[in-house]
Amino acid sequence: MRERGFAVTEEEVADAVDALDEAGVLLRAGSDAELPAPTRRRHESNLRFYDLFADLGRTSADIHRAVEAADVLLLGAGGLGSGVLQALLGLGVGRVRLVDFDTVEEKNLARQFTYGQDDIGRPKVHAARDWATRYSPATTVDQICARVSDVESIRRLGRGASVVVCAIDSPDGIQLLVNEACFDLGVPYVTGGLQYSSLFYWSVGPGVSACRLCLELHRDDEARATPERANPTVLLTAGRVNRATGPIAQLLAGHVALEALRYVTRTDPPVAAATYHAIHLADDMRT
Ligand SMILES: [Zn+2]
Repeated sequence: MRERGFAVTEEEVADAVDALDEAGVLLRAGSDAELPAPTRRRHESNLRFYDLFADLGRTSADIHRAVEAADVLLLGAGGLGSGVLQALLGLGVGRVRLVDFDTVEEKNLARQFTYGQDDIGRPKVHAARDWATRYSPATTVDQICARVSDVESIRRLGRGASVVVCAIDSPDGIQLLVNEACFDLGVPYVTGGLQYSSLFYWSVGPGVSACRLCLELHRDDEARATPERANPTVLLTAGRVNRATGPIAQLLAGHVALEALRYVTRTDPPVAAATYHAIHLADDMRT
């Protein structure tokens, strides 16, 4: 600036840099070099995404390292869970504890892209781990072939996890069980699903946001106070018809994985904390 005839002091420049950093428009040049070359190559687009949230104090490399350090408990390797697994490996999450008790069926191949024709009849956790091993050796996938049906087992599985993703819809009341376990552990959780013709997802940050129980109590209060409005619990019990095509499952998995990423990196606040997000498939994708 001096060369161009502006009279500025170093103090003024430092103040300007602080102001620009506060506005979130500065990155620390060359900070990618902190990462090994293969990591930079593989995660180039991830790093450029993190640039949107990085500043002089926290670089995109720092954010990537937070992802590498993450340990995700993923309940379910079905329509939602297998898509979330793919997203997590693409991001380079360090560890995934994958829990499922199902075997691969032919109908799964419409939307569960971690499985192929040869996997039919195999336990999903084994087939998913095989996919993961081929896709990226950087993520450790623990295969846990189990049915989750009580708070204690979820608590045990979730101890030390960075975030829990609940991608199962049975047994009935599973959300309240996961809610209770995650509250005890202080671990955030993210979940989603398809109800009738709407995708939904939401999350809970224990001690920060309202929890699932709060949501249900509030919904009951609201239903009593405003009987003219459609009661969402009617939809929740409307039967389980599976309309999740591949694109729909991918869309939902993307939203859920992004929300999990927000908890892991703390780059920007979770968008669905105690907030029911719905995407209406039969209504112009209205949200
Ligand atoms: Zn609550």
